This record gives sequence, structure tokens and C-alpha cells, in this order.
Amino acid sequence: MAEMPEFESEMHRTAVAQLDQVAERLNLDHDTHIRLRYPRRALVVSIPVRMDSGHTEVFMGYRVHHNTALGPTKGGLRYDAEVSMGEVTALAMLMSWKCSLMGLPYGGAKGGVRCSPRNMSKRELESLTRRYTAEIILMIGPDLDIPAPDLGTDEQTMAWMMDTYSMTQGKSVPGVVTGKPILVGGSAGRREATGRGIVYVLYQAVHRLGQEIKGRKVIVQGFGNVGGVAARMLWRDGAVIQGVSDYKGGVWNSQGLDIRALEQHVKETGSVVGFPGADPISNKDILEQPCDILLPAATGSQIREDNADRIQAQVVVEGANGPTTPEADVILHNRGILVIPDILANAGGVVVSYFEWVQGLQFFFWKESEITSRLQEIMARAFTRVWNISKKEHVNLRTAALMEGIRRVADAHQVRGLYP
Ligand code: GLU
Repeated sequence: MAEMPEFESEMHRTAVAQLDQVAERLNLDHDTHIRLRYPRRALVVSIPVRMDSGHTEVFMGYRVHHNTALGPTKGGLRYDAEVSMGEVTALAMLMSWKCSLMGLPYGGAKGGVRCSPRNMSKRELESLTRRYTAEIILMIGPDLDIPAPDLGTDEQTMAWMMDTYSMTQGKSVPGVVTGKPILVGGSAGRREATGRGIVYVLYQAVHRLGQEIKGRKVIVQGFGNVGGVAARMLWRDGAVIQGVSDYKGGVWNSQGLDIRALEQHVKETGSVVGFPGADPISNKDILEQPCDILLPAATGSQIREDNADRIQAQVVVEGANGPTTPEADVILHNRGILVIPDILANAGGVVVSYFEWVQGLQFFFWKESEITSRLQEIMARAFTRVWNISKKEHVNLRTAALMEGIRRVADAHQVRGLYP
């Protein structure tokens, strides 16, 4: 099949290889399969920003729409030093499968800017976000493509995007992004949604294994919106959170960490590092400690060929996108470790993004309890579907989730037909 040098990267090769394997298993029609390997459209922009030093720096930005068969495209925007066209294109493809798996009326998209947001001031980030939005403005819109937060971006980023887009339209257009502050059209429970969704699917898995969460030993890599929220819920329900780490390093206490006190420490110091009553541990070592549940909720490619045989968890639940490389995935599977894949485990974020979008279009907002109960129902249903496919087809949960996600997109393609 044709090479795609435009998107050359490890992550893109992996995403395409996954599609190819699943297409074969699904016996997908060749023409549809080929179509799904390519993004529908991909934009590269350069973003000049006047830095606080007075100099102008130019950043590279991307927005990729993978597929539009199921509806307008949806997916996050990441600010990270590793961002590339290949990575963004791969992540857009994963968003297609994720939205499809969750039954949302969206295709997949992703955006990114190659920058180091932690080393930039708020003013620099605002300039970057506004100029990036202006450069991709033809690609986004409430019924075209709806960005949301991802690695390195947050509610504030979305507020700037929404404002920039709105200024060009001469009116407020809250539906152009999700993950906005509640004050300007955001949804109750969006910030917590990804973490909550992880916990809901994890409880389904733990239940299927005939266990309960109380007393289970847990390690969490990443203590932001995703890992932090999940850690707090698991701790509240009696799990023993032995180790937590963030980008600066980790902390360990085999008796369990007091997560509320840890949150306070993070608020005061900006990191989990130095938390009293815990030992320091590196981000690498924390993954390899014995535990029941390992939650990688930081960045991609954390569990690789070179450490997968040292992972000592019973269940790995993927909070981040792509934390396990394909080689590591095989090793974990052969060692009998249950992996709950990213497109299922972390889908709570995009599910509540969908709720936010729907509420915004109707100008009618729901209570947080309504949001969480609908989220819980959707996550549990998706888990059950994936679990049943995995049993029926004798495949792991990742393959089962991809089979379900890819099949719906392929079916939508076939029923819509080829233009012109
Ligand atoms: N960035 C999140 C993800 O990877 C959320 C995307 C969204 O809400 O559109 O799923």
C-alpha cells in the first residue's frame, strides 16, 4: 500500500498498522479500508508570537480531520514539545475510533502546536492560542470541527479559542469548542469527566474479575485533570494509592498516600514531589512496582518493549492516549495483564464534551448529577460491548474496542457512498 511520507512518525505507523490488522479481522471491504488509512484533510500553519523578551518566535501548528462519515469532527488540541504532523494525524485517527466506539455523532480530529507551555507566560500562551485559532479558522466551527483540551491545554485555552472565533463571526459562538469554563458555556462535570470515566470502566473490569476496589493497590502516573481526579475517586472508595507521579517526579508510600493532603501539597508547591510522609520515586521506577492497578495518565509511550516485562500490575487502565507501544501491548497480553485501552478508558472526556456541545446548541444546561449518571451509563455500556466482543472473538480489549470503533465508521462510509 502507498506510503504516506507527509505523516512519517512512529505513532502514525502504529495507528495505521492497527487499522490494517483490525480491517483484516473484520474482513473490511478493501476500498473502505484504504480510505480510512488517510486523514480527510490536514493543515500545517506557522504561528509567529511576540515573546515577553521582545523577540518574535515562530511555532508550528497542525489541525487534522481524520474522518467525517459519522458527523463533524471532534478532538483535542495539545501543546507539547514533541508535537508533529505524524503524531497529530495518528491521534486524529484514534479519535475517530473513540467517538465511534462511544456512539457519538462525530468523526475524529486532533490539533497540536509544538511548544513548551510550561516555559511560556500566560500572555505568550494567549497570543499563541489566538493566532493559531485565526490560522485554522476555516477548519473549525460548531458543525464542522470542535476542538477541546488535551495535553498542555485547559479551560483557559478554550476560552481564548472561543473568543477569537467569536470575534470573527461578530457574535458569541460557544459551540465551536468544548471544555470551556462553565461561566462561558462550559458543562458541569467536564473537567472531571475523563477521570470519572476511567474509574467507571475500571469498576466494570474489577467486577468482572470478581474483585472489589476497596483495598486494591493502585499506582497513578500523572496527577492532572485525568490522573488526579481518578486517584481521588479511587482513594475515596477505599483503594490504596501507593504511588503518584507528575512531570517533576513521584512519591511512594506502601501504606497508601492521603490523596486529599497530596492535593493540598500540589496546590501549594505545584508538584507531588516533596510530599511529607512519602519516599521519592522516579517516573520510570513507579511503573515497575508491584500493584493491582496501574493507571498511566501522563504522556504516550510510557510502557515500552524495554520495560513491559517488568510491569507488575494485574490491570493497566490507559488514561493517556497511547501510553503502551504495540510491542509492549503484546508482552502485557502474553503475561496475562488486562489492558483497558485508551479509546475506551479515557473516552469520558469526549463523551461529556458531547454533552457540553448538545447543551450549548440548545441553550439548556443539565445538572451535574444528570451528567455523571449519563456518563456512567455510556461508559458501562461501552465496556460491556467491548468485553463481550473480546470474549466472542478471543481478542484482547484493545482489538475488541478497535473492531467496534472501526466497524461503525466503515459502515457509515458504505451507506453514504463515494462522492462524486
Ligand atoms: N482530548 C480528549 C481526548 O483525547 C478529549 C477530546 C474532546 O473532548 O473532544 O479524548
